[in-house]
This record gives sequence, structure tokens and C-alpha cells, in this order.
Amino acid sequence: MRLKEVFSSLQGEGVLIGCRQLFVRLSQCNLSCAYCDTDYADSATWSAEDEPGGAGRREYPNPADPAFLTELIGRWQSHTRHHSLALTGGEPLVQGAALAEWLPLVCGILPVYLETNGTLPEPLERLLPYISWVSMDIKLAGTGGVPTPWDAHAAFLILSRPKACQVKVVIDPQTTADEVAEAARFVHHHAPQVPLILQPKTVAGRPSVTGRPLLSLQSAAACEHPASLVIPQMHPLLSIR
Ligand code: SF4
Repeated sequence: MRLKEVFSSLQGEGVLIGCRQLFVRLSQCNLSCAYCDTDYADSATWSAEDEPGGAGRREYPNPADPAFLTELIGRWQSHTRHHSLALTGGEPLVQGAALAEWLPLVCGILPVYLETNGTLPEPLERLLPYISWVSMDIKLAGTGGVPTPWDAHAAFLILSRPKACQVKVVIDPQTTADEVAEAARFVHHHAPQVPLILQPKTVAGRPSVTGRPLLSLQSAAACEHPASLVIPQMHPLLSIR
């Protein structure tokens, strides 16, 4: 696997907010969203904290050695109790073949939480036996800057719904009630038991949608899908990763 970094922190988004997680961030992505603030470019090395949550970093060569990575995660879990292992990116499923070899090794140490843009159903299908939770995004055209890939999202959500813990949409001050309602209708149609999370885009460390506009968007979503929640990003407020 080609990695960016391994670190230990608190989940800052969605329904598992506040859970201590061991994050494995993979490089590469199949999308290029307008609001993306993540460095997912492939690199010659990846870094890991010197201890879980530590200030120091060590560099290792890419591709990561699966046995070494598994051993590192086992060591970290003995040092600090984590709720789960968050696979994040970039888009982790771009490296589906490598994950198919590594996840069987690591899922016995920690349950796996997949953060994904929800557009690559084929690699997901093979990996589902090793994944405990799926957190899937819906990319709204108004915020993402590209047309929403509804067909790919539908195939993905149908596959992942037995393990889906949430569908998440990023909203910003330009997001319309119609866009949010369409996403909510979509979730209710394909996975009525799965919560929809409206996540205001963070700008300068603060949620960019607040007050009445935020309540209006939540109301538009809840009319279509009652389990529509607003959860802002927590990690910028706590100055953590
Ligand atoms: S899917 Fe995520 S990582 Fe990829 S471009 Fe969009 S926001 Fe960035």
C-alpha cells in the first residue's frame, strides 16, 4: 500500500465523533473535489507518529510493508486503547487490491472503519468481510464542483448498507435546500435506516453554515429522511488532527 501517514487521534466527524481511532491515511484519489483540503498525492515516503498521539514523526519508504504496518498497529493498540482503525485518504478504495491483502491481517487487532467517497463499489465488495463500519460521502455538485455521481453512489450504498453507519454531505453557504433534499431522498430510498449527516464546511476553524440557514437545510433534509443530523467537524475546535 502507498501511504501518507499513520497517527492516533479522535474521530472528528459523524456518529463516531469523539472515539479514539488509529488513522491510516492512504495516498491517491479518484476525484478532485473543489473543497478538498487533504494532501493525498503519492509520495516516496510515509510518516508515523513516534508513539500514538506523539509529537515526533518517523519516515518510512513507500510502498508500506504490510507485516511491518500490522506489527506497528498491534504495538500501538497495546500502548493506547483505540476504538477502531480508520482507513482514510485520499480514497482508500483506489488501492483495493493492496487492501484485500492487508485487511485480513489487521482486522483481528482492531475493527475497521472505512471513510470513503462512495464511488468505487467494485473494490468495496471484496473488502466488506473485513470492514465493520462504512462512512460514505455524497458529493453535492454545488460544493464539490463536479456532477454528483448518483449511479456510483447508489451501487455503493446498496452494497454497504448492512455496514453503513452514516452517509455524509458537506454543505457550505451556497448549498441549496433542493440539493440537500435530493440527497436525503436518495438515502431514504436506498438505506432508510442509515443516518444522513449534514457537515458544514469548516472555514478558518469554524463551521461556515450556522443559524437559520443551517436549520433550513436540516429541515429540508429531514422532510425526506427523518434521520438527518447536523454534526460539524470537531477536530479543528480541539486543535487535533
Ligand atoms: S474524495 Fe475526499 S480526498 Fe478525494 S478529492 Fe474529494 S475531498 Fe479530497
